[in-house]
Amino acid sequence: MTPCLFCSIVNHEINASIVYEDDRVVAFNDINPQPPTHVLIVPRRHIATLNDLNGDDTELVGELVRRAALIAKDRGISASGFRTVFNTNRDAGQTVHHVHLHLLGGRTMHWPPG
Ligand code: 5GP
Ligand code: ZN
Repeated sequence: MTPCLFCSIVNHEINASIVYEDDRVVAFNDINPQPPTHVLIVPRRHIATLNDLNGDDTELVGELVRRAALIAKDRGISASGFRTVFNTNRDAGQTVHHVHLHLLGGRTMHWPPG
């Protein structure tokens, strides 16, 4: 089985600029940031896509979203605004199949996305 990149980051087997971690959630800076703030918030447990969530994961998904808001607050972008995105599978451009919430901010972003 191919090792999962984000599992390797979560387990500290691959270096990442980690900004937050607890027993359920890890957040780290994206290696190829698009806006000035580009943080990925992931569950510690491997879940490939949102399609693979189960009924017990509702609270976990809430923790990802709340953690994004708290990191945005730390970065001073709560009031100016930020975007949070889960990409799922091919049409959305998901490249790493371990659920991750993108926190994007620090500049004006366009809508709708491409
Ligand atoms: P996706 O396209 O799957 O929604 O997003 C995957 C994200 O992971 C991309 O924004 C990409 O830059 C980021 N990424 C890919 N490899 C690494 C890595 O090794 N370390 C970190 N920190 N981010 C990565
Ligand atoms: Zn994984």
